[in-house]
Amino acid sequence: MNVPFLDLKKQYDSIKPEIDSAIQEIITSSAFIGGAAHKKFEEAFAAHQGVKYCVGVGNGTDALYVALKSMGLGAGDEVIVPANSFIASSEAVSLTGAHVVFADVSRATALIDVADVERKITSKTKAIVAVHLYGQPAPMKQLVGLAQKRRLKILEDAAQAHGAAIDGVRVGNFGEAATFSFFPGKNLGAYGDGGAIVSNSQELAEKCRMYANHGRLDKYDHKMEGINSRLDGLQAAILNVKLKHLEKWTEQRIAIADHYDKHLPKDVERFERVPGNRHVYHLYVIKVKAREALLAHLKEKGIGTGIHYPIALPLLKAYAHLGHTEKDFPVSAVLSGEIMSIPVDGAMTIEQARYVTDVICGFYTK
Ligand SMILES: *Cc1c(COP(=O)(O)O)cnc(C)c1O
Repeated sequence: MNVPFLDLKKQYDSIKPEIDSAIQEIITSSAFIGGAAHKKFEEAFAAHQGVKYCVGVGNGTDALYVALKSMGLGAGDEVIVPANSFIASSEAVSLTGAHVVFADVSRATALIDVADVERKITSKTKAIVAVHLYGQPAPMKQLVGLAQKRRLKILEDAAQAHGAAIDGVRVGNFGEAATFSFFPGKNLGAYGDGGAIVSNSQELAEKCRMYANHGRLDKYDHKMEGINSRLDGLQAAILNVKLKHLEKWTEQRIAIADHYDKHLPKDVERFERVPGNRHVYHLYVIKVKAREALLAHLKEKGIGTGIHYPIALPLLKAYAHLGHTEKDFPVSAVLSGEIMSIPVDGAMTIEQARYVTDVICGFYTK
């Protein structure tokens, strides 16, 4: 058996007629930028997250940048970002001119460690980027409490967490805004780049919309300088089709994760699923000691894997100027040497998941 890490072709095959006709419709109507599909997607995605407003943008990194900029962050401000994430979470902070301050993560969940966030707050701290890593919501109750006490803003980076929720409330409802990525491999993926900002604040959503579209809401009435970052019509049309299937695919991801939770051998350490959280399993990540050997074994058995992420953000060359060492982020530094991701996807079957657990069990009883 073969279990690719991700099989986008298999997903396409399952929805081909719908996708092909949606693409055809955009081309025949020439609605390449803006248009009905774009508007429909923003409304449908806002409804999916249970928020009031959605602004489609060019990608998830721009979504973070546009949101932070529209929240008023810039030079002289400090923004706290978890040490274990994709670089976009911190990159977007630097793009605004603000200073990135990293916080360590929890060994149990890989999510931002609220106690460390509290230690990193200074008089210059203005915001926290709460990353819903791997598809599990960050500890929003604690973060929101802290943010209220210390007068900080929160931006949720939900690039990996479409449909994730805490006690039934979907991500996007906890911070000033939340950002999503529709990179092809994300839980909801376009056929190219795409992203969105959601918010319950009309004022903030409008600012984001303007900033992402040359500082305007109307054709040549530019209120300020902005950038060009829009979700295009083709991507919006594709996302409209896929959004209708997202809940079903998400339930399949959760079913596969349930299988892994139950059947992986005890040599494999799991991350905790926090009670009340709806974890949407963008990634299923395990902690193991003999990582290189297990990765090689899975490869030999036809199972795709990944590492998310092999180097903690503060220890990347990109942040060498901050002068951090592993001692500054003891949890993230250790985790980055132990974590590995095994396949989980809406197009995957339980039989494939069973093969993965059988192969991993075989590795440990060898
Ligand atoms: C993918 C991702 C992003 C960036 O999204 P792009 O669409 O690739 O720009 C941001 N944050 C996290 C946590 C991500 O996983």
